[in-house]
Amino acid sequence: MQTTNDIRRSFLDYFASKGHAQVQSAPLVPYNDPTLMFVNAGMVPFKNVFTGQEKRDYTRATSSQKCVRAGGKHNDLDNVGYTARHHTFFEMLGNFSFGDYFKEEAILNAWTLLTKEWALPQEKLLVTVYHTDDEAAELWKKIAGLGDDRIIRIPTKDNFWTMGDDGPCGPCSEVFFDHGDHIWGGPPGSPEEDGDRFIEIWNLVFMQFEQAGGEIVGNLPNQSIDTGMGLERISAVMQGVHDNYDIDTFRNLIAASEGLTGVKAEGDRTASHRVIADHLRSTSFLLADGVLPSNEGRGYVLRRIMRRAMRHAHLLGAKDPLMHRLVPALVAEMGQAFPELGRAQALIEETLEREEVQFRRTLSNGLKLLDEATGDMAEGATLAGETAFKLYDTYGFPYDLTVDALRPRGISVDEEGFQSAMAQQKAAARAAWKGSGQAADAEIWYDIAEREGATEFTGYTATTGEGRV
Ligand code: ATP
Ligand code: MG
Ligand code: MG
Ligand code: MG
Repeated sequence: MQTTNDIRRSFLDYFASKGHAQVQSAPLVPYNDPTLMFVNAGMVPFKNVFTGQEKRDYTRATSSQKCVRAGGKHNDLDNVGYTARHHTFFEMLGNFSFGDYFKEEAILNAWTLLTKEWALPQEKLLVTVYHTDDEAAELWKKIAGLGDDRIIRIPTKDNFWTMGDDGPCGPCSEVFFDHGDHIWGGPPGSPEEDGDRFIEIWNLVFMQFEQAGGEIVGNLPNQSIDTGMGLERISAVMQGVHDNYDIDTFRNLIAASEGLTGVKAEGDRTASHRVIADHLRSTSFLLADGVLPSNEGRGYVLRRIMRRAMRHAHLLGAKDPLMHRLVPALVAEMGQAFPELGRAQALIEETLEREEVQFRRTLSNGLKLLDEATGDMAEGATLAGETAFKLYDTYGFPYDLTVDALRPRGISVDEEGFQSAMAQQKAAARAAWKGSGQAADAEIWYDIAEREGATEFTGYTATTGEGRV
């Protein structure tokens, strides 16, 4: 069996053999894009190369980029533990052409890697193209010999990539793997497409047009290629399992979590172990890249992910902080490919432990309140936003943790009510500032903090009020 580490290597070596420069993953905090919370795709570190603002000494590149999708436009946090294919942290394998090769070579390389190099069964692969992209459809027919029934034309934005309102854009073509009819789901474009039977493994973006103000204004002088393939998804396919959480990396992390909690990942315990394993990866990698838990911006996303995992550890009956004790298993799995993990291991362990000690002080009281508030609620009921806010404000329960806690019982949370309780409290705090006679700069700071949010380097000693998030 090829391990996930082998598969990463194999992808990078394949594209290196086709003249691509091997580029290290960039850190998760984007250095060139203040609008983005975390790097969420392989192309992000190359944005300025695609637009021509920046030149590199290569025109083709390949990487395995660390990605986090736990906020903003791509938020997969709520999927984790419940779908077979979503993580908060994952690696995106990619090959890129900066004005070098275009559609034909991109499709040829993708198909050759999948079906020759890796020998995947062709009959289980199908592709989508943007509905007007006849060129891509023809190329898939010519290169892969796919019939029209396995080249699905999609008319939605899902198959048209843009960088915002301005800059390069173009159609995409996604490759799907059919895991078999014993799994619920339908092909892309069908009503059952959200199921987990047909899993998207690779997205090829053909940067072809120039956009200005949301309108296509012409062809790009240099057409480019950006592709992204989820390492964990392709590992599942190549290791003959359906579920990402059954690949070697996750099995080993889940085994460590089973070992420390003494609880097997079976039945309704499965989701908890998966959430723990997934969140261990995202929180550890974020810490290794310099994000620290805090109350705003990136630091708060990190804290939310940690606390969500910590509730699941509690659910499994862990009597003491658990997360930091799993870090050695993660370093053993991924430390070779990502040496920053080993370098930051002590910091990661100390931070996770400190956060878990702190959160556990209020966790059981918060859960008690949650039980009381929802004790007589039936499936389909909604928890009042004010209660969710009290859990947040007094017990340090991030909103999504409360949502996650009620999900197995089919109870939802009134998000609007939560937001308005939050807004009220902020307004009250602001009024208190005003009345306090403090210098105006305090108020300006308050506004900036609220607007910008990002406070990743608040210092290792940043503390939070007891129970406050
Ligand atoms: P999906 O439709 O399954 O959510 P996507 O279209 O949002 O995927 P892309 O933005 O096209 O994904 O990202 C490129 C590739 O990265 C996908 O084809 C998939 O293999 C992988 N990927 C995307 N999101 C995740 C995730 N949350 N966890 C693991 N892999 C992912
Ligand atoms: Mg998605
Ligand atoms: Mg998709
Ligand atoms: Mg996609």
